[in-house]
Amino acid sequence: MDFKNSEKLYKKGQKHLVGAVNSPVRAFASVGGNPLFIKKAKGTKITDVDGNDYIDLVLSYGPMILGHRHKKVEKAIKKALKNGYTFGASTKNEIKLAKIVCDAFPGMDKVRFVNSGTEAVLSALRLARAYTGNDKIIKFSGCYHGHSDALLVAAGSGLATLSLPGSKGVPEGAVKNTLIANYNDLESVKAHFEKHDDIAGVIIEPIAGNMGVVLPQGNFLKDLKTYLETKNALLIVDEVMTGFRSKFGGAQELLGVEADITCLGKVIGGGFPVGAYGARNEIMEMVSPLGAMYQAGTLSGNPIAMAAGIATLTELKKQNPYQKFDEVAARLEQVLKEKANKHGVDIVVNRFGSMINPFFTKGVVTNFEEAQQSDTKKFATFFWALVKNGIFLPPSQFEAWFLSSALSEKDLQKTEKAIDLAMEAVVN
Ligand code: PLP
Repeated sequence: MDFKNSEKLYKKGQKHLVGAVNSPVRAFASVGGNPLFIKKAKGTKITDVDGNDYIDLVLSYGPMILGHRHKKVEKAIKKALKNGYTFGASTKNEIKLAKIVCDAFPGMDKVRFVNSGTEAVLSALRLARAYTGNDKIIKFSGCYHGHSDALLVAAGSGLATLSLPGSKGVPEGAVKNTLIANYNDLESVKAHFEKHDDIAGVIIEPIAGNMGVVLPQGNFLKDLKTYLETKNALLIVDEVMTGFRSKFGGAQELLGVEADITCLGKVIGGGFPVGAYGARNEIMEMVSPLGAMYQAGTLSGNPIAMAAGIATLTELKKQNPYQKFDEVAARLEQVLKEKANKHGVDIVVNRFGSMINPFFTKGVVTNFEEAQQSDTKKFATFFWALVKNGIFLPPSQFEAWFLSSALSEKDLQKTEKAIDLAMEAVVN
């Protein structure tokens, strides 16, 4: 396998793009080597500019849950294109997608579409503040909620990949209302409420996917919600990654908790830029034009994105691949453990629905601190060995692997073989 064309593009891209990329994790900084440049993808396969084919476990960090270029999604996009690209006025499909989304979340009467997960979350924080009249927000260490100023502290994802505590350029004032708690540690949340009486809410990834996959333990989420109710503070559940991934709708329902405000993105745009935030009527009615919380967007509710989202969610509902996801993830977990054991490598595998990843560490991984114990050098070796054996996975220890419903038995067998070779590479 050679990567000559990727290497050439990486050099060429440096001139007018920052680090030759438009999102940091694509630079492969934490695994070293030359990032891959992609030419095309179809189904479960992604092909780089050198003509190498891979089974895709990145899926554009989640959106491509049906695999690439599903024929029904493609048909819907082509049909929408014929009517024009954007109008700056409302369309029928926005109402249709809103109904599909609201019907899938018990606590959601109304939704507002935006253009990214970042926008969804920053709008949700504004809404929580508008509704409660309080300014402070608690976030959990290792959770990533997009790159808005207020949340670029103790964030996972690309920041964890690059070992950055936060970001330069974020003024102190922008994070002065952000409080940090530890995932799976309700006491650390309570400690903030004991000190402050102006907390609007707590934002959380219900299954964390940006420090690797980390699950809420026991009744953590339920207890958190019950506690917040006693404090009149809102629970903001960031389902940008988990929405429609582990069931049709959100992870909330599976975990027995209902958000006050839910944030969505990724899957609901079917591969196009869409985010959304939604809540029950009394909260959403704060949003302009009904209420005094302003939020807007030139391309929000974009017709092509709405068409892709509707087609993706309709097909997803029909396929109902969630049991298959569980079975495939369980099988991958077993293979990862078996092969690690065979080659004498310590790993912890965390998974939920169609999200899974191995940490190169011992014991358990239930929070960011434990995730950071993972041996990232071993991960880098493992990563490149998988790539060279035809598996494309996120180039970071702190990102989830994503499964699509298109994965075949042949894909799984190839993945299992590659995992064996990659575990062997880790010890050599
Ligand atoms: N929230 C979560 C949980 C995410 O995983 C991400 C992105 O990975 C975001 C928010 C930000 O979404 P976007 O990259 O679309 O701005």
